[in-house]
Amino acid sequence: MRKPMMAGNWKMYKNRDEARALAQEIVALVGAEEAVDIVLCAPFVDLCAVAKMTDGSKVSAGAQDVMWIDEGAYTGEVSTPMLVAVGCKYVIVGHSERRGRFGVWPKDWPEELHAVFMDNDVSVNWKARAALAGGLTPIICCGETIDERHAGTTDTIVRGQILAAMAEMTEEQIGACVFAYEPVWAIGTGEVCEADEANRVCGMIRGVLAERVCCGAQNIRILYGGSMKPDNVDGLMVQPEIDGGLVGGAALKADSFACLVTAAAKTA
Ligand code: PEP
Repeated sequence: MRKPMMAGNWKMYKNRDEARALAQEIVALVGAEEAVDIVLCAPFVDLCAVAKMTDGSKVSAGAQDVMWIDEGAYTGEVSTPMLVAVGCKYVIVGHSERRGRFGVWPKDWPEELHAVFMDNDVSVNWKARAALAGGLTPIICCGETIDERHAGTTDTIVRGQILAAMAEMTEEQIGACVFAYEPVWAIGTGEVCEADEANRVCGMIRGVLAERVCCGAQNIRILYGGSMKPDNVDGLMVQPEIDGGLVGGAALKADSFACLVTAAAKTA
């Protein structure tokens, strides 16, 4: 039986004081919930405050990215040991907004700025392995663009991302990861993937994991992400292959996030 997980991705929202207040509210609402692993992935500068505020509760702090090297001359980067030192337990790796949105850029951004977001299949693998080696649980994201879906290549794209993310990992390491299926077209758009289709892709991902992990793929958690909200969470969480959510917009308010946690708890 896989324990459900609800992970909030706060993206570039909330300064330190706002983050502390939101974490406090969430702890008050669901901080004693034992049936769900609850994660708040906050901006780097907020992590210390969020980790302190959630300490002693069932809520954990997570980061949104990590460098694959522990220390060195990498201006602006943050490493696994640094995240662990402030009490962080999880890290999102390879979110589509860091993989250069698969080339889906705001129209007014010149091409020169596209390289600012630089993740690809190789860096995702390196980051996930560095996180595991240093004691963080990576939440590894994958998902197709709308063009790839229309072209009928969803499974090929997602399969390729998952295989690349697992490169050179031991079975034990793969088993320690969390995966998140996040169709790019459903992130922040209000457009949710149909529950049975999200379930199908998550099942396909589990099949890919099973190619690398002899008997343990049934124990690996696979989350769905993409406009998950209180009014659609039940339909998603009831799906057998969906073990929780990676949530953006609905994680920015304590009551809606708590609602998602409660829905996940019902499936435990
Ligand atoms: C996300 O940020 O990973 C996400 C799924 O965002 P949203 O829930 O807003 O679509």
